[in-house]
Amino acid sequence: MSAADPNCLFCKIVAGELPADRVFEDETVLAFKDIHPQAPFHCLVIPKAHVATLNDFTSQEAAVIGTLLLTAKRIAGDHGLPGYRVAMNVNREGGQVVFHAHLHVLGGRPLKGALG
Ligand code: 5GP
Ligand code: ZN
Repeated sequence: MSAADPNCLFCKIVAGELPADRVFEDETVLAFKDIHPQAPFHCLVIPKAHVATLNDFTSQEAAVIGTLLLTAKRIAGDHGLPGYRVAMNVNREGGQVVFHAHLHVLGGRPLKGALG
């Protein structure tokens, strides 16, 4: 993890330089609605510190990954989602477009279909 990257879209959202529909934040993570929702509920959970991909987390930062997942659980509960999907795309080949690591939290309808 590193200081904010001035060229990173999600670092700009963390800093408040770009708007976002925030649903949760604490000292470690920020969650906001995805601008192109793929389900009735679709938000992103990101570390506030810049990390490009899951591959860039070190074992010393494992607690941050845990906090991202527990935040997904908390948000799903806060929004009354009886079930939901959590996904993380890693690198271009994994479908990642924004290189500040993030979890997708999707729900609001029964989720079926292929993951890949
Ligand atoms: P990825 O493909 O990198 O896993 O997902 C990036 C996600 O970020 C996409 O679902 C996309 O809709 C979302 N996104 C891209 N730009 C913005 C933005 O400026 N604001 C918000 N709220 N979401 C964004
Ligand atoms: Zn960033």
